Amino acid sequence: MNDLLRQLGLGAINPGTWCGNEATEDKTAGLIDSINPTTGEVIASVRNTSKAEYERVIARAEASFAAWSRIPAPVRGNAVRLIGNALREHRDALGALVTLENGKIRSEGVGEVQEMIDIADFAVGQSRMLYGNTMHSERPQHRMYEQWHPLGLVGTITAFNFPVAVWAWNACIAAICGNVNIWKPSPKTALCGVAVQKIVNAALANENLPDAFFLINDDSNELAEMFVDDPRIRLLSFTGSCAVGRQVGTRVAARMGRVLLELGGNNAIIVDEFANLDLAIPAIVFGSVGTAGQRCTTTRRVLIHQSRFAEVRNALVRAYGQIRIGDPLDSRTLMGPLIDPASVSRVEAACDAVRASGGEIICGGERLDRPGNFITPAIAVAKNDWDIVQSETFGPILYLIPFDTLDDAIAMQNAVVQGLSSAIFTDRLQNAERFLSATGSDCGIANVNIGTSGAEIGGAFGGEKETGGGREAGSDAWKAYMRRQTTTINWGTDLPLAQGVNFTL
Ligand code: NAD
Repeated sequence: MNDLLRQLGLGAINPGTWCGNEATEDKTAGLIDSINPTTGEVIASVRNTSKAEYERVIARAEASFAAWSRIPAPVRGNAVRLIGNALREHRDALGALVTLENGKIRSEGVGEVQEMIDIADFAVGQSRMLYGNTMHSERPQHRMYEQWHPLGLVGTITAFNFPVAVWAWNACIAAICGNVNIWKPSPKTALCGVAVQKIVNAALANENLPDAFFLINDDSNELAEMFVDDPRIRLLSFTGSCAVGRQVGTRVAARMGRVLLELGGNNAIIVDEFANLDLAIPAIVFGSVGTAGQRCTTTRRVLIHQSRFAEVRNALVRAYGQIRIGDPLDSRTLMGPLIDPASVSRVEAACDAVRASGGEIICGGERLDRPGNFITPAIAVAKNDWDIVQSETFGPILYLIPFDTLDDAIAMQNAVVQGLSSAIFTDRLQNAERFLSATGSDCGIANVNIGTSGAEIGGAFGGEKETGGGREAGSDAWKAYMRRQTTTINWGTDLPLAQGVNFTL
């Protein structure tokens, strides 16, 4: 473990406030202990950011923005290319740190760093494609077009469950758009934040560029709320629970700022009477047990046609029995610990709520008798309208719900307040298209014969309703990080007014 920390330039106590490569540490601010969820032991600590340090960060970031925003976008893209290369070099070590601090299995930890590399590559290309439209003016000798300018300071607050990739989705795209980034990671994965800050800024150290990547830390939420309320933060990109996101969205709206919300999900897979179970069962198991059920896109509900209910239930119980739970650094492990003891208690409470509603836990939901936050993944037979099924329990509990007709299944799939990810398993074209139609799934992501989790960066990622409506990563998500300016140039010698308005003096 110490070797890994050394490899990433981390110590026992790490400064948590960074302007590019330059760290500060105000010893009056407390320490955040990074806890290994597999053992309960402290890995290392990160110093919180004090209010005085925060003001210095903002002042430095504003000065940097004046310089960074003047650099041509393809040159900013080249800086992101260097970041992608540095992440390639540190892929395994950073991936191992993600596993150590977050508890997701090794291949998922490394996969998260791969996702950072992918978005960096994408951003490099995008830096030459910040296209605006041109329009034909209704007035003679006039030219009309739109151009995109950077916003300024972009604040990113991230959740524990994707401790590095979500930063990259935001920071790489925001940077090529000409913005300066300030990141506040989750206090549950603060060490990952420091490691990323160091890798990224070391890659740019000799490039004679202004600082574009800043880091603050806060485990009290006092500073986080200051950050949210700060009008100097032009865009606040928030990833986390619906409850906190609702507060963040309201506060940023109150100051007329821009917000990008990526919040909780309550994702369903529909298995119809024509589904190929050789595809559906592994997709459901990865979707519900992967990352120990702690993905925003985790499969939480499976809506199963009555005719296949017993078959699917039995296959899932058999598959769950084969899940190897243990040390996430061991390559044979398929499910690691949950992030903290409270998360284990929440899964137990969800199992109790199922029983109290008259449902049945058909497997799992039992704590493991070992240190760390381990619980066996649970499956329940449930009803869609139960309160517990309607809410996101951020852990491995899966609800099986029977249906009669596809319309009933789609109605149930949509009858939750969240709208992130959804999927159907079917070999019948009509059912797939019905699910994808305007009156089908109401989610930001709708898949056919692919599970709800494991999105690629090329598409725009995000969800509807209480998931917040934000879109990040690929497609045209870059537009959220820029302001659009419509420009009309008169190159003639007259001053005609639009709509033929006459205003002659
Ligand atoms: P959380 O809401 O508890 O915390 C998220 C972040 O908000 C953390 O950095 C936390 O320190 C910060 N925070 C907490 N209170 C705050 C406040 N008052 N003001 C400002 N910041 C505050 O979420 P979590 O437990 O870290 O993550 C799990 C949740 O995130 C789940 O609901 C999951 O679905 C969601 N999530 C969504 C996406 C997505 O893209 N839609 C991705 C990952 C996670």
